Amino acid sequence: MLKRWMAFASLILLVLTLSLAGCGGNQSAQPAAKVLKVGAEATFPPFEFQDEKSKEYAGFDVDIMKAIGKQMGLEVQIVNTGFDGLIPALEGSQIDAIASAMTITDERAKRVNFSKPYYKSGLSIVVKSDNVTINNFKELEGKRIAVQIGTTGAEAVKKIKDAKVREYNSASEAYLELKAGGADAVVNDLPVNEYYLAKGGSKDAKLVGEILNAEEYGIAVAKKNTELAGKINKALDEIKQNGEYARIYEQWFGKKPQ
Ligand code: GLN
Repeated sequence: MLKRWMAFASLILLVLTLSLAGCGGNQSAQPAAKVLKVGAEATFPPFEFQDEKSKEYAGFDVDIMKAIGKQMGLEVQIVNTGFDGLIPALEGSQIDAIASAMTITDERAKRVNFSKPYYKSGLSIVVKSDNVTINNFKELEGKRIAVQIGTTGAEAVKKIKDAKVREYNSASEAYLELKAGGADAVVNDLPVNEYYLAKGGSKDAKLVGEILNAEEYGIAVAKKNTELAGKINKALDEIKQNGEYARIYEQWFGKKPQ
């Protein structure tokens, strides 16, 4: 009887030991790398999007942030956030930084700290292939224009005379509206328009006109977080020097950095 009881007790002890070991397993291993939470509106290829198969976040910004994180010894975690919710999320400390093809503007710089520019961009127009009336920004007057909410494209078209501006949560919804005939044009960042056309959009749409104004993308951190801004700038310099920036740029744009 006693023997049986002892066998039972040692079994319990074994189970307890094993489960405790399981709990402590993570702590005894290498401490997990610190995480840098990076906000991005992830339907903006080739800058940030979810890979269809793996569902992993991919794109130029994602790779640049991973390379920057590597320099800083931080693990980058992408937090998918609506574009107009990114700055509020930064101010509310839900994220540490924004890398979302975000143009450096004076207006935004009042609320965030921008890194040095890391990409040169600008706005451009996409219309249906058979459209002959819109050839430039001037000819957008009185037209129905689809844009992504909270973007520089949305701001720019609101200044166009009599324009009927339709704002969508994502650029892909704006392209869909053009396709469906609900808009005459989409105004969006040139590299994103080019990518859309290259990935099948050119079947029924085309790019027209000159690029509107030169814009530059920056990585944003909270106003109070000057230390992080400095570290990101340093890491950006380092990846430019060690060739990592150029490698990532060429991978996404098929040419050397401008
Ligand atoms: N570059 C544009 C802006 O900053 C668009 C960015 C975006 O839609 N992700 O407003």
